Amino acid sequence: MLMQSYWDRQMIPSWQPFINEAVNDMVQAGVQLVSDGQTRDPFVTIFARGLQGCRIRDRPEIIDKIGYSHPITLADLQYVRTLLPKTIKLLGLLVGPYTFSETVVDSYYHDKEKLAFDAAKALNQEARTIEPFVDMVSVDEPYFSTSLPTYAAELLGAVTDRITIPLRLHVCGDVSSIVPQLLDMPVDILSHEFKATPKILDAYSQYPDNKKKFCIGCVRSDNETVESVTEISHHIEKAINIFGKQIDQLSPDCGLRLLNRISAFEKLKNLTAAWEKVVYD
Ligand SMILES: [Zn+2]
Repeated sequence: MLMQSYWDRQMIPSWQPFINEAVNDMVQAGVQLVSDGQTRDPFVTIFARGLQGCRIRDRPEIIDKIGYSHPITLADLQYVRTLLPKTIKLLGLLVGPYTFSETVVDSYYHDKEKLAFDAAKALNQEARTIEPFVDMVSVDEPYFSTSLPTYAAELLGAVTDRITIPLRLHVCGDVSSIVPQLLDMPVDILSHEFKATPKILDAYSQYPDNKKKFCIGCVRSDNETVESVTEISHHIEKAINIFGKQIDQLSPDCGLRLLNRISAFEKLKNLTAAWEKVVYD
């Protein structure tokens, strides 16, 4: 069989309505840094499907050495760019290699660290592939909050190697006990669930001399209840008291893809309105 159609499936036009919907909702709600919405698959599966050495059964499974043979998210990002007004920026999203190693079934390496570093090398190639087309790359490492490995900074460095655009690390969950390690990570911006876990704000307030920038989670991504503009603006003011000008972005705590579309839209809209309230009131 000719395999070209297999590799071209990322371009299947029937997928575009889902991307349109996610992107248009973000733009309509006033979001200024927009992603592709990760509509295709859960975020680990998107990359497991695209990397060499992986196959998808019930869960992604590693059956050979992990490698990079073709762009994974590039086509969707280029498509999103065509939908965006010129003033809106584009965010590339990568699964973190540690979270990848914790999520997949390993039938090849039997060595989590080795698996994670090979994944990091492959993800660095994806980062370099998308770098000319996006304004920022965000690496998603939720598993850092439950079991931060000793090699975390080195591993992340392998993903971000030679990337010169702004880099963000997103770690959801309670990170209040690993703040010093997070401040040493080779990224510009740290992104956390500050709304669901406000004690993370207190934890960072113990390190006032840090040089990082922050992305403040301002609405919960784990329940449908839409926070009011007043509630969100109070949360933003609390964050400003601690981080001041180091705040680079306001965002939902985590991705909103599991919420119903109306709640997700209303949360984004209220977040934009709360930001305007804080800036202009
Ligand atoms: Zn998250």
